[in-house]
Formats: sequence, C-alpha cells, structure tokens
Amino acid sequence: MERTLSIIKPDAVEKGHIGDILKIFETNNLKIVAMKMVHLSTQEAEQFYAIHKERPFFRDLIDFITSGRVVVSVLEGENAVAKNRELMGATNPQEAAPGTIRAEFADSIDANAVHGSDSLENAKIEVEFFFNNQLAAL
Ligand code: GDP
Ligand code: MG
Repeated sequence: MERTLSIIKPDAVEKGHIGDILKIFETNNLKIVAMKMVHLSTQEAEQFYAIHKERPFFRDLIDFITSGRVVVSVLEGENAVAKNRELMGATNPQEAAPGTIRAEFADSIDANAVHGSDSLENAKIEVEFFFNNQLAAL
C-alpha cells in the first residue's frame, strides 16, 4: 500500500473537471483518504515547487498554480505513486497517451490539469506539506 499526493490544477477546476478526475482515481483503485480545496499563495507555491526553482519555467509554474483554486488529495492504493503517474499521462499533454487525464483534460504544458508525486519519497514530503497536522487522522 502506498500514498501519493494529487493536485487538480486551476485549469481543470475552472473547467469543471474535478468530478471527472476524481472518478478516474476511484475507478482505478486509488482511494481518496484526504482532500481539500485551497488557493495557494505565492509563498506556499514556491515552497511546494522548490525542487524546480532553477528551471526556466519556474515563474510560469508559480503564476499558474496560484491563478485559482486547486483540489489537493491523498490517494491510497497498491503502487499508488506509479499508478497515479500512469493515469495522469505525460507532462506535455500533446505527448500524453490517449485516455490519460492530461490527454483528456489538459490544454498546455502549463495548464496540464494535474500534479502527482513522482516518487514515494516525494509523496511523503508532499502529503506532509498539505496535511501536516492531520497525519495521525489519515
Ligand atoms: P510533472 O511531474 O509531470 O508535473 O512535471 P515536472 O515535475 O517536470 O514539472 C512540474 C510542472 O512544471 C509540470 O506539470 C508543468 O506544468 C511545468 N513544466 C514542466 N516542464 C515545463 C516546460 O518545459 N515548460 C513549461 N512552461 N512548463 C513546464
Ligand atoms: Mg513533477
């Protein structure tokens, strides 16, 4: 059993795809064990994406993720980290396999519908970031 962190990004929230995306998780044996809707501040976003701070697209990434509300959830299941990445599809929606969340709902590499932890180690850090004082209840 693993846990991973998912974020439904502002584009997908704004377009009304929260339910569609959560349905994909649930029908693929990823159980939602924690969830909240938030509007990240610039400071929170910079901390969350600190790993990318030297990348040329960092400013665009921060501007986009803070542009509207997001839905943050913890998904639990067998191989949850890899399974979520598989369901998400490639970072660039033009390269995402048919049927994946990004192929279905994303518009561009910035507005690409979802975030998902890329390793078990980062999943733990990211779950802690959003649900730090609720871990005992999970
Ligand atoms: P992910 O794990 O598939 O989300 O991709 P990364 O961790 O590599 O990048 C984080 C986020 O930054 C991605 O979801 C994209 O929204 C954005 N991003 C990644 N690479 C690029 C890029 O080359 N250009 C732009 N504009 N954004 C990017
Ligand atoms: Mg990533």
